[in-house]
Amino acid sequence: MKTTNLDVIIVGAGFSGIYMLHKCRTLGLSGRIIEAGTDVGGTWYWNRYPGARCDVESMTYSYSFLKDLEQEWRWPERYAVQSEILRYINHVVDRLDLRDDIQVESRVTEAVFDDTTNRWAVATDAGDRFSAKYCIMATGCLSTPNLPQFKGLDQFEGDWYHTGFWPKEGVDFVSKRVGIVGTGSTGIQSIPIMAEQADHLTVFQRTPNFSIPAWNGPISDDADRAWKKAYPELRARARVSPVGSPFESPEISALEVSDAEREEIFETRWQQGAFNFLAAFSDLLSSKEANQYAIDFVHRKIRERVNDPDIAELLCPKDHPFGTKRLCVDTNYYETYNRDNVDLIDVRTTPIKEIVPTGILVGETTYPLDVIVFATGFDAMTGALMNIDIRGRGGMAFRDKWADGPSSYLGIAVAGFPNLFTVTGPGSPSVLSNMMVSIEQHIDWISDCIAHLEAASMATIEPEQDAEDTWMAHVNQVASEFLYEDSNTWYLGANIPGKPRVFLPYVGGVGHYREVCDDVAAKGYEGFALTPAGGGSPA
Ligand code: NAP
Repeated sequence: MKTTNLDVIIVGAGFSGIYMLHKCRTLGLSGRIIEAGTDVGGTWYWNRYPGARCDVESMTYSYSFLKDLEQEWRWPERYAVQSEILRYINHVVDRLDLRDDIQVESRVTEAVFDDTTNRWAVATDAGDRFSAKYCIMATGCLSTPNLPQFKGLDQFEGDWYHTGFWPKEGVDFVSKRVGIVGTGSTGIQSIPIMAEQADHLTVFQRTPNFSIPAWNGPISDDADRAWKKAYPELRARARVSPVGSPFESPEISALEVSDAEREEIFETRWQQGAFNFLAAFSDLLSSKEANQYAIDFVHRKIRERVNDPDIAELLCPKDHPFGTKRLCVDTNYYETYNRDNVDLIDVRTTPIKEIVPTGILVGETTYPLDVIVFATGFDAMTGALMNIDIRGRGGMAFRDKWADGPSSYLGIAVAGFPNLFTVTGPGSPSVLSNMMVSIEQHIDWISDCIAHLEAASMATIEPEQDAEDTWMAHVNQVASEFLYEDSNTWYLGANIPGKPRVFLPYVGGVGHYREVCDDVAAKGYEGFALTPAGGGSPA
């Protein structure tokens, strides 16, 4: 079987993979992206469910390295809809002339490191074979949909969908009785739209989430001009900020202001919408007392927005601190429960028993449905990597190494797996940040690293186990200073039965993390072992 030789193989054609391929071109290296979907876009290719849009403001959710495009592109709305982001990604791919090196409809099934040649042998389900010096896992953090094993799903006589595998042609809900399982960010975005289209919508809720209004709307020409003028400063600020945002970071504690001041600050942040609310005070995610103030404020807002007091109580999260589950951002989510054609069913008290041919059985009650939508999330951060049979030095299986939870140096590389990089992997700020900022930081770091290895005629780079262990201890230590571990979230793997409970992202902040990564590189890749080409001992 023919093997294609490359310098760099990249798995995934989302924002990370596309930027990495561009970097390969600028480094003069041959690179190819292997992508499972029929086209580019990654998360924005797969998640086409009704209401899908980015919770991060569109003016900040784009590549910063494309200075001309940053000025030219006109984002119509404050929060971009999925189709607009996909249009942007396709435009970038064409503008940078990358398409010829993107192979679609091919899923990478295995990647095996050869100790003798120091190269990765990569295979796809389409039967392709590649050999590459570097292997870049740009596989995404939320790219492996989680479909809970509901008994009887195969007997269901209607249609069912997972939001993460939404059909390109869309789904017609008109005159249909629709049921949706899941009230995370995805459910909360799609429920108001589905309610408008369907004859009847039944929402099956196990855990209510905190959601803040998006206050979405068109971006005026004046606002667009102002953003574009300030882009250099805003991008620079985002790079050193805690969460990759150009907006100011909170400095005051919720405990050091009067009740009236606190209420006013919360209200101001509420009116700014979305993640701005989390920036109301510096200690919302580290102090239980401060957090309780946020809980009480948002509960009051939910009760104002929902007419039926019993439904409002069901929608008020009471089992986890505010913001420790990924905050949701909505347009008319709570108001949707004031509609006559929407019911909320609590499947915490009485869980879903099974799917029956005509609908969903909860306790002894069957809810008749024509369509079921599963907005049940993802096997986050590790799922996509664990689905590939990755073998490192001496045939070591990645799945074995991470059997008790991920272990990585800087969330970017793994001891025993030379020349393999995990973009926004566990142990990096990743999903706790604006992904665009973190993706660019990782790809910049990886490509600088590759440039260094090539210039210095190095064969391999890989983390030292000690450096990895120290980093993981630090990741866990920092996480324990926050309230995150008090919640059963996908950040901890708690949504997947049997997944080890390990806090996955790095909470230390984007700006601080960038300094650490830059420092490691400046010190000659401290904590990494580099092996010269043509043999010799690791340095
Ligand atoms: P999610 O947050 O994991 O939510 C999954 C939902 O399904 C939860 O409500 C969960 O309930 C429920 N569920 C799972 N298994 C169930 C079962 N067996 N029975 C009943 N309910 C069940 O997933 P998501 O909403 O797809 O969001 C995942 C992440 O994607 C977000 O946190 C966010 O980071 C990202 N996202 C981003 C955007 C954006 O705009 N940028 C939009 C959407 C999503 P429990 O909570 O009880 O487990």
